[in-house]
Amino acid sequence: RAKAEGRGTYRIFTPAMDEEAEERRMLERDLRQALDDDTLSLHYQPQVDGYTGALVGFEALLRWTHPVRGSVAPSVFVPLAEETGLIVVLGDWVLREACREAAQWAQPLKVAVNLSPRQFQKPDLPESVLAILAETGLSPDRLELEVTESIIINDMARAVGILRRLKGYGIRISMDDFGTGYASLATLQAFPFDKLKIDRSFVAQLGTGPQAAVIVRAVLSLGRSLGMGVVAEGVETHAQMKFLTEEACGEMQGYLFGKPRPIADYAAAVGAPAVAVGAPAVAVGAPA
Ligand code: C2E
Ligand code: MG
Ligand code: MG
Ligand code: MG
Repeated sequence: RAKAEGRGTYRIFTPAMDEEAEERRMLERDLRQALDDDTLSLHYQPQVDGYTGALVGFEALLRWTHPVRGSVAPSVFVPLAEETGLIVVLGDWVLREACREAAQWAQPLKVAVNLSPRQFQKPDLPESVLAILAETGLSPDRLELEVTESIIINDMARAVGILRRLKGYGIRISMDDFGTGYASLATLQAFPFDKLKIDRSFVAQLGTGPQAAVIVRAVLSLGRSLGMGVVAEGVETHAQMKFLTEEACGEMQGYLFGKPRPIADYAAAVGAPAVAVGAPAVAVGAPA
């Protein structure tokens, strides 16, 4: 009987697995087409000063609107792009597009771009970033690259070398999703990041118990000791903001200040190209 059940399960399970694999293949095929189909776009999420609430920059986040399925979550297509290596061309597009966009803003705000570990495996990464800056006319000190610990895990010396070259150009480097990885302290010792981004899982738990507060304070203190700025991501509530302000967190990002949106929605804040340079900045600040 057990055997029969096992076989039954097998028969039911196999087509489902095939379907899943087929589904993936189709999505991969469509993602390959996405650049040509013009179905990729960037959303921009405000980053604000922790003390004043003034807008300091935006994180560029990739969006994909599938011609049939509609919008596909980055948590679905980014891992797929990583596994297939497609992220290298997509990442190149993201960087060029974000720099091109930011170069048009009247306000000299920063733009943060996520870099995949795969992009780090290309030995010419620093040169290609430099070429994109030259091509778009964006000043390197307005570009921030967000990387995760996974870039360092395979070959720390090599990754550190690449990061140093990028930093040498005046580009800032942030460690994204800090606190979720394994080699955090070793990594921090090996490379002077400009910023640590506290993962939003910790921010989300602020207020639900003492644990998250202890961790967030520890990261802030670590940042201060190592001379690195700290950004809290995923700030959604006034209570979280209040805690972070009181703990002197330098920058914040989250739905409370603004969701990732097309840049047109933030036109007033960036100073639209038509607006004369020198017009007063409209800070996003904290909403009522
Ligand atoms: P990430 O770099 O850590 O980006 C922050 C994510 O948190 C974004 O999700 C953003 O929409 C979300 N978020 C920000 N504030 C809040 C908040 O207050 N509440 C909640 N619940 N979420 C918030 P998104 O856009 O879905 O992107 C997910 C991940 O996909 C990113 O995490 C990043 O790892 C990856 N990704 C997105 N765009 C790119 C890209 O251009 N290149 C690469 N390599 N990865 C990208
Ligand atoms: Mg990021
Ligand atoms: Mg993050
Ligand atoms: Mg994250």
